[in-house]
Amino acid sequence: MTAVPIPNLPNALARIRAIVGDKGCVTDPEAMAPFLIDDRKKFLGKTPMIVRPATTLEVAAVVELCAQHGLAIVPQGGNTGLCGAQIPSPAGAEIVLNLSRLNRVRDVDPINYTITAEAGCILAEVQAKAAEVDRLMPLSLAAEGSCEIGGNLSTNAGGINVLRYGMARDLVLGIEVVLPDGRIWDGLRRLRKDNTGYDLKHLFIGAEGTLGIITAAVLKLFPRPREVVTALLAVPDLDSALALMVQAREASGDKLTAFELMERICFDFALRHVPGTHDPLNQAYDHYVLLELSSSETGGLRATMESILESAIEHGTVIDGTIAANDAQAKALWRIRETQNDAQKPEGGSIKHDVSVPVGQVPEFIRRASAFVTTLIPGARPVAFGHVGDGNVHFNVSQPIGADRARFLARWPDMNHGIHDIAHALGGSFSAEHGVGVLKRDELVRFKSPVEIELMRRIKAAIDPQGLMNPGKVLEP
Ligand SMILES: Cc1cc2nc3c(=O)[nH]c(=O)nc-3n(C[C@H](O)[C@H](O)[C@H](O)COP(=O)(O)OP(=O)(O)OC[C@H]3O[C@@H](n4cnc5c(N)ncnc54)[C@H](O)[C@@H]3O)c2cc1C
Repeated sequence: MTAVPIPNLPNALARIRAIVGDKGCVTDPEAMAPFLIDDRKKFLGKTPMIVRPATTLEVAAVVELCAQHGLAIVPQGGNTGLCGAQIPSPAGAEIVLNLSRLNRVRDVDPINYTITAEAGCILAEVQAKAAEVDRLMPLSLAAEGSCEIGGNLSTNAGGINVLRYGMARDLVLGIEVVLPDGRIWDGLRRLRKDNTGYDLKHLFIGAEGTLGIITAAVLKLFPRPREVVTALLAVPDLDSALALMVQAREASGDKLTAFELMERICFDFALRHVPGTHDPLNQAYDHYVLLELSSSETGGLRATMESILESAIEHGTVIDGTIAANDAQAKALWRIRETQNDAQKPEGGSIKHDVSVPVGQVPEFIRRASAFVTTLIPGARPVAFGHVGDGNVHFNVSQPIGADRARFLARWPDMNHGIHDIAHALGGSFSAEHGVGVLKRDELVRFKSPVEIELMRRIKAAIDPQGLMNPGKVLEP
């Protein structure tokens, strides 16, 4: 792609440098490289400058200046997004506004059960700050060591605790946003009840940086679990996994915090490629569930898990299993689930899907999707896993053994198309938690009604009339 000329670019870049200082600008190609490629190495972008402001005022000044110069902005947090939304276009006409230096926890309030964190705070560090005052920040995902609060909110991240605590959106009481013209909207409310007109924060949450820059947020905290019990259970088939979830929810009330499905191939890949993993059961099974109960009370939770297990064995919904005896064992069980992305990489090309369907349709979705991909590409290896308690399946497909990687990956659009059609037919969504970005922009148009698309375009035009906020992401320009 040829570079797009930006009028007065050197002047604009010099003025940005004057705002953020040398520490806040990266222009050396080698230093810029890690900011310009995503985790899966699927998107490679170009930019004249990575800008790294350290305060909300600096963000506002940079954004205002960009508005004056007609310079487009790609907001970026920890760069763990999976749809290419945080990577600039290869045309090189956009600056990257990386928020990682805006990383102060402004306030922790154990009485109000809230934490106010700036956009660049790493999720794991926010969890740790909450734990220091004996509170739980429940948002949790495998990328938590590097993803950041601004990115989490802008993608409306999900993760492993959605079943009990909801998506990122459900955890937000207030946000601070720099609007595309550089004005600051201070919406950092710490209220659980506030019915005062349109709830604007929800427009920016999940917008993937297309409406403004989130600079800080007030997030809900919860009582910290005193007891956590984790079990890995083998189930005879997919329908049994579903029956087990219903059973476990009924028996434990709201104590069921995670319910993750994994097929045997997930174990095979992890055992082969992830150091330190071992098979927790003595025998191999086709389907497994990783189940976690947690409670802020102490005592009795293990007994609850044991009684769920006993009853499930009696009903035939579980055929084998193990309950972690301690933290180390629980971590070992979670490691198999959490390293799935890395475990799949050495197996060659992998085509990804992040779909959701109503929970009761998960088994049917996996059956139909597996049949579809193995008909489309004989020998293709479906790797289904994910947050089944939320109806969210990460339906990845590894290339046939010995196949040509590039030729397999060239089928990505065909395969996505078919899988998304299956999810849609079952009342589902083509993107459960990873968003749209560039990767699924065409699918948005395919599956959303014209009315919904028109409303989205009107909102974009009203808030970002110059179209400078993450152009070409989510919606076609
Ligand atoms: C191993 C791995 C596991 C993952 N597991 C999950 C999972 O379980 N659940 C899940 O939901 N996601 C998951 N993801 C995806 C990713 O981690 C999340 O989308 C995360 O929320 C992105 O945060 P980030 O800081 O890295 O954002 P980035 O990748 O930097 O950006 C993501 C989007 O947010 C925008 N953005 C970033 N910061 C701001 C800001 N301050 N203001 C406005 N816009 C902004 C960007 O423009 C882009 O559109 C996973 C990713 C990896 C690599």
